[in-house]
Amino acid sequence: MTERNRLRIAVQKSGRLCEGSMELLKAIGVKLSIRDRLLIAHATNLPIDLLRVRDDDIPGLVMDGVVDLGFIGENELEEKMLERQAQGKQFQYKTLERLEFGGCRLSLAVPNEMDYQSVQSLQGKKVATTYPFLLERFFREQNVNAKAVMLNGSVEVAPRAGLADAICDLVSTGATLEANGLVEKDVIFRSKAVLIQRGGEMPDGKQQLIDKLLTRINGVMQARE
Ligand code: ATP
Ligand code: ZN
Repeated sequence: MTERNRLRIAVQKSGRLCEGSMELLKAIGVKLSIRDRLLIAHATNLPIDLLRVRDDDIPGLVMDGVVDLGFIGENELEEKMLERQAQGKQFQYKTLERLEFGGCRLSLAVPNEMDYQSVQSLQGKKVATTYPFLLERFFREQNVNAKAVMLNGSVEVAPRAGLADAICDLVSTGATLEANGLVEKDVIFRSKAVLIQRGGEMPDGKQQLIDKLLTRINGVMQARE
């Protein structure tokens, strides 16, 4: 295969999805010569290149067809899809497999002292989040007129800083919430890591390779059950 025909897979460079993705690639026999700071890592035994990027960039890279496959959290994927939908941009992709890592939930949390009966208690309030499209969709479904305030970091300190009344953030244990005087109230989205493929036709060689990788992934997942 020529360079152009190598399968391009986007993975998170570092962070919570990195280990799970790299472990799975290793388990299905993709051998890499990873030098830490490189954007691209070439597999040594298969025509595969890994693109190591921030997780936020992965849905867009797949939807724009810049890479063939990507490992990404469903939260990030769904948010990007809603964002692109709102902008009238293309958001095509296929989910190949829901994976057994990266599990978390996107939850509404409020300060300990807030009187919270249900999501209706947020009527007219501001809610800080990194996922404004997912949050606003939830508010629409619940008929709540509340505002999502976009923050890329430090979401959990927003109420104390007077930037918002409540937050909507990713939770796995709840320890961060507790440390910031917040209580988790409603789960709005449950997420796991997924493997996605770009839309459009794949050349034969690439499709065969993808099919082979998928068969191996299923084998690994079954063995781990
Ligand atoms: P990057 O530098 O790549 O942008 P990040 O800080 O945005 O990294 P991480 O914190 O590594 O991202 O989280 C990546 C993904 O891991 C999340 O989008 C989510 O799908 C998943 N995840 C699993 N557990 C958690 C958790 N407790 N908190 C946040 N994300 C989690
Ligand atoms: Zn990110």
